[in-house]
This record gives sequence, C-alpha cells and structure tokens, in this order.
Amino acid sequence: ASGYSLLRDPQYNKGLAFTEKERDAHYLRGLLPPATSSQQLQEKKLMNSIRQYQVPLQKYMALTELQERNERLFYKLLIDNVEELLPIVYTPTVGEACQKFGSIFRRPQGLYISLKEKGKVLEVLKNWPERTVQVIVVTDGERILGLGDLGCQGMGIPVGKLALYTALGGVRPSGCLPITIDVGTNNKQLLEDEFYIGLRQKRTTGKEYADLLDEFMSAVKQNYGEKVIIQFEDFANHNAFQLLEKYRRTHLVFNDDIQGTASVVLAGVVATLRLVGGSLSEHKFLFLGAGEAGTGIAELIALEISKKTKTPVEETRKKIWLVDSKGLIVSSRKDSLQQFKKPWAHEHEPIDNLLDAVKAIKPTVLIGSSGVGRTFTKEVIEAVSSFNEKPLILALSNPTSQSECTAEEAYTWSKGRAIFASGSPFDPVEYNGKVYVPGQSNNAYIFPGFGLGLVISGAIRVHDDMLLAASESLAGEVSEEFFEKGLIYPPFSNIRKISAHIAANVAAKAYELGLATRLPRPENLVKYAESCMYSPVYRNYR
Ligand code: NAP
Ligand code: MN
Repeated sequence: ASGYSLLRDPQYNKGLAFTEKERDAHYLRGLLPPATSSQQLQEKKLMNSIRQYQVPLQKYMALTELQERNERLFYKLLIDNVEELLPIVYTPTVGEACQKFGSIFRRPQGLYISLKEKGKVLEVLKNWPERTVQVIVVTDGERILGLGDLGCQGMGIPVGKLALYTALGGVRPSGCLPITIDVGTNNKQLLEDEFYIGLRQKRTTGKEYADLLDEFMSAVKQNYGEKVIIQFEDFANHNAFQLLEKYRRTHLVFNDDIQGTASVVLAGVVATLRLVGGSLSEHKFLFLGAGEAGTGIAELIALEISKKTKTPVEETRKKIWLVDSKGLIVSSRKDSLQQFKKPWAHEHEPIDNLLDAVKAIKPTVLIGSSGVGRTFTKEVIEAVSSFNEKPLILALSNPTSQSECTAEEAYTWSKGRAIFASGSPFDPVEYNGKVYVPGQSNNAYIFPGFGLGLVISGAIRVHDDMLLAASESLAGEVSEEFFEKGLIYPPFSNIRKISAHIAANVAAKAYELGLATRLPRPENLVKYAESCMYSPVYRNYR
C-alpha cells in the first residue's frame, strides 16, 4: 500500500509515531512533518486537548474522530484513562450522542440493515470488510437507555458497547461489528426532523419484523459461522424476550439488558452480603420496573438462591416482588400480565404505588429498573431505611437523567446508611463529614469479560450457569478496602484484570457444560484469557 493510504487507514495509522525507518520503507517521506513522537507523547497530547473541552458531547466527538483516524491510539487512551473516558464513550454521554446523532454524524460506523435491504441481508454483511467477526452488537433502536425510541440513531449504543468489548474485554477491534436494524421509528420528532438519518416511517411489527430479524439471524450464521456472539442491545421488551427465546437454542445469543444486567446486579448483591451479613435467601427484594432489566435480574437471583438452598425456583421467586407502571405485580393481575411478568404475580392485595409497596413488602434491597428518573422519592428512601440498618439501594436506570435517585439523595435521605450504586456514574458525596463513594452497577462490568470467555472457549451457546459464573467472579473482585468506602463493585481501573477472571470463569463453565469447541481446554484459563487480549500498543512495520 502507498504511504498516503497507510496514513488514512485507522487500523494502521500511527501519525507522528511512524519511525524514520518506517517512513523510508513505506513511502511516507514528506507526508508527515519531521518530528517523531512516541505513543505516550501522543496520548498525553490528546488527553490534554480532550480535557479542554467543557462539553461532554465535544469530548465524545473528539474521541469518535480519533477512533476513525488512529484506532490503536483511541484504545490506548480508553484503556489507560478508563474511569475518565467511560462516561464519555458510554453512559451518560452516549445517550446524548444518540439523541443528536443526525447532526453529529460524520462517517458511518458499523452496518445499517433496514427494511430496504429485505432479501439482501447476506449481501449487506458481505459489504463489511472483515471476514472473521467475533462479536456483533445489534439494536433496533426502540429502547435506547431510558430515552425511548431513537430509531436509527440508536447506532451509538452498539458502537459504544463494542468499544468497551475491546477496551475492557480485549476483543480485537476487527472482530467487532456494530449493527442497527432499522424498521422505522415511532418517534414523531425524529420523523419530522429533516436531518434524521433513518427510514422515515412508523415501526413495522408482526410478520414483517420477524421475517427481517430471521433473515438477519440466518445470514449472520451463514456468513460468520456458529461461534459469533450476537448481543441484543436496547430492544423494547415486547421483542427482546421473544427474540432471546426464539434464538437461544440455535445461535450464540446474549441479551445484555436481560442477562448482562442480571449478572452484574447479582454480583453487587452478593458482595453486599459481606457488608451486611446474612445469606441471599434471607433478603427480600423489591423492584421498580418489571421489564427486561427488572425481571432478568429477579430471575437470576431466584436461580442463585435456588441452587444455594436446593429449593425449587418457584419457591425462591417468592422473595422477590416487582412494581410496574400499574403497581405491585400480584396474582389478581395475572390474566392481563405479559408472559415475562407472570412468574412474579404472588398472592397479595393490589397496591398501586411504590411507597405503599415498600411499606407493605419491607424489602432489604430496593432496585430501580424503570427508566424513570426521580422515582425513589424522599418518602420511599426514608421508608426503606426505617426497617433496615443498611438498605441496599440500586438506581439502575440510564442515563443520569433517568436515575431513580441521585447518590446524594440516597445518602442524605437514608442518613448515611444506604449502600448505593447506580447505572450511570455519580461523584462521591460528602455527608456529615464522611465521604461516600457510590458504585456503578452497570453491565459494562460483565459483558466484555463474558464475551471474551465465550470467544476463547469457542462456546456455541449461552447458558444461565455462565451468567452465575461471571457474577461470582465479579463479586470476588471486591476487596476490603473498597467495602470501607461503601463500594460493592471494584473500580473500573482494574477492569482488564477483572475481565480476564470473568472470561476464565465463563470459559471454565462452557467446558464443564460441554458447550466449548476450542479443544483441548487450556490448563490455566486466566493466563490464556490474558494472552488472548488485544493490546493497543503500536506494532513495528517492516
Ligand atoms: P423495559 O423493559 O421497558 O422496562 C421498564 C419497566 O419499568 C416496565 O416494567 C414498566 O412498566 C416500568 N415503568 C415504566 N414507568 C414506570 C413508572 N412510572 N412507575 C413504575 N414502573 C414504571 O426497560 P428495561 O430494559 O428493563 O430498562 C429499564 C431501565 O434500566 C432503562 O433506563 C435502562 O437504561 C436501564 N438499564 C440499566 C442497566 C445497567 O446496567 N445499569 C442495564 C439495562 C437497563 P410497564 O411494564 O407497566 O410498562
Ligand atoms: Mn442496554
């Protein structure tokens, strides 16, 4: 290739870091200014310039531009500054980026498959330059974070998730493929926006929707084989549960909102037990929000208790209660409930609001998975703090604007007694002279390592026991020093090591279950996982 095209290929470009020898060997003379730079110096320069932007969306755009210019430098920055940059490439800023996607859109990332491509999905996949894809993250944009239907602009989510697959989980960038399936949008504002980048029509449903998804699923298998992970992300729950159920026996599918979230929350709850004592089965759980996240978490907790106590899951579910937009889920509502809510319709008189449900159920753990901000009111948090020495309060909804409460509210209203974590990050809070550090209960702790575990074992199916394995591994990473600060999750700065451990535990489970195809099984799976992880350090070109 010519030097000129080398500089324009983000996979190979090193900018000023091309050495004198490389400049000679690859026809780069004169195409670069005379100075040479190390990757460290480039990193320093870029971090300086990113820190000068006051507006998070500007930082987001600067990072996107870097990713399109110099991929290794992008990942070097992300890995070395993960705590600082995660809120930019991921929640909350990625939410704003999706909302404004039409106007900040420069160059397409990933693949767009719309109703126009019906019957040609395989051809579309063949237009993607990489032949060996390991992970696909796909959305149809209908439930982007807690922001609702953003149609085609949901693409920011698969792009962001896959950046984390590489930065946090070490899956190589060329193995990652973001996809948006555009079946229209019901977002009126977008339909009327002259700059909207998607199909200008109402969402299709029913057979036409199912057929496009089916064509997509078959085409993926045909083009990339049996071992590509298909991660469903931010689908609305009326499709998400069905898609997972339909494809879990034929494809390597993983729904992050249902399964990844469940695994990360279970880890946080198990870690909390070391702080508050007792066993999982002694706790009582109340959820606000009975959708993908809520019922997914509930089911995994019930499964874990069932395994630990050798009690049927029908019994262990009774420790767990959920509230949806119509109130507490109870048996008298059973006939009118969606399928995924039915297991949670326990015997109880109807209650139509969260506060009364808290008072009646008296949960030890309160979990927000509603997508609606400010729903954990002062009264709710005071109530849950009135019968618990240390209530666990998780406000999972993203982005920050949709969080059920802020960290400050949780600590203040509980008089410093709550153990608190949230889906989007909050800064530490000072209350009564003590500093409380909120944890981030986000599936970003799980999916990168989980996916790496599937990749390195050559797994062909996802099994619930793998979710439990990932969860156990994450819970084990929280050490005493973090507990003292009130943290129930380890800091993201250790995430590559954590991901390697999660991957090893997941892979071990895949071998145990006979779902792994990479044989023989590597002896030391942690070492093996680490050795497989992508490094963003520049390579020398001869
Ligand atoms: P979903 O499937 O649409 O579920 C939302 C649930 O909340 C539904 O049960 C809905 O009730 C209920 N709800 C909505 N408004 C309510 C209100 N005012 N009062 C009570 N309940 C209400 O969505 P999801 O996929 O579970 O996601 C929900 C939120 O969790 C989103 O904000 C998302 O960003 C967040 N999330 C966080 C993580 C994480 O890692 N932290 C992971 C996944 C999702 P109905 O069923 O009656 O409509
Ligand atoms: Mn999601």
